[in-house]
Amino acid sequence: MAYTKRLDGRKFDEMREIEGKVGVVKNADGSAMFKFGDTVAIAAVYGPKDLYPRFMQNPKKGKLRCYYDMISFSVNERKRPGPDRRSNEIGLVTEKSLTPVLSLENYPNAVVDVFVQIVQANAGTRCAGICAASLALADAGLDMKDLVCAVSAGVVDGKVLIDIDKYEEDVEGMTDIPIAILPRTGEVSLLQLDGKVNREELKEALELVKKVSKKIHNAQKKALQEKFK
Ligand code: UDP
Repeated sequence: MAYTKRLDGRKFDEMREIEGKVGVVKNADGSAMFKFGDTVAIAAVYGPKDLYPRFMQNPKKGKLRCYYDMISFSVNERKRPGPDRRSNEIGLVTEKSLTPVLSLENYPNAVVDVFVQIVQANAGTRCAGICAASLALADAGLDMKDLVCAVSAGVVDGKVLIDIDKYEEDVEGMTDIPIAILPRTGEVSLLQLDGKVNREELKEALELVKKVSKKIHNAQKKALQEKFK
């Protein structure tokens, strides 16, 4: 069956409602919340602080460590609590997506820890986590070249759609493409692909993500301005 319209009535290039907020975790050095519809991520930053054990320290640059966790009550069926292969992978890709914007050379021998918690999940959690984490790093006052905007594109029946939800992710033949972009330069710091696409579809997905990342960037800037105005 051809995929001609989205179940929730959104246009193919329309994201769910997005919202960002900083300073949501009082004890953290920086923190933020970011949502795509009912997918909600909270990120908390601790550091920069001395890295231990000491043999892991690098006098030339600091280290970024990201942890991702989807809380058991974030989905309808109970999710087993604690780390697993998926959360380790997402922690790692979150780290890779954020590393290009951080001036880690200014934090020798130090570590910056970022904890991403997904409190509600309806697909796109790694992207919401990356958006929240980059905001939390900015809230912590770290030296950064840019923010990071991430969102998932989907490709099905030759159609490209943005910010797919769980229902859409489970549609037969849907390819999920989470992408992170540095809004100032357009550099891509994450591109994962779960399924099949051709060159044209991938190009179209990248263009669409670039287009909507302006909206994500605006929501992030608004969140920072609200705290620091
Ligand atoms: N999900 C779930 N239970 C799990 C893992 C995932 O219900 O143990 C759902 C959740 O809604 C999540 C979605 O599956 O957002 C898609 O997960 P995926 O691994 O593709 O990552 P995401 O799209 O969240 O970045």
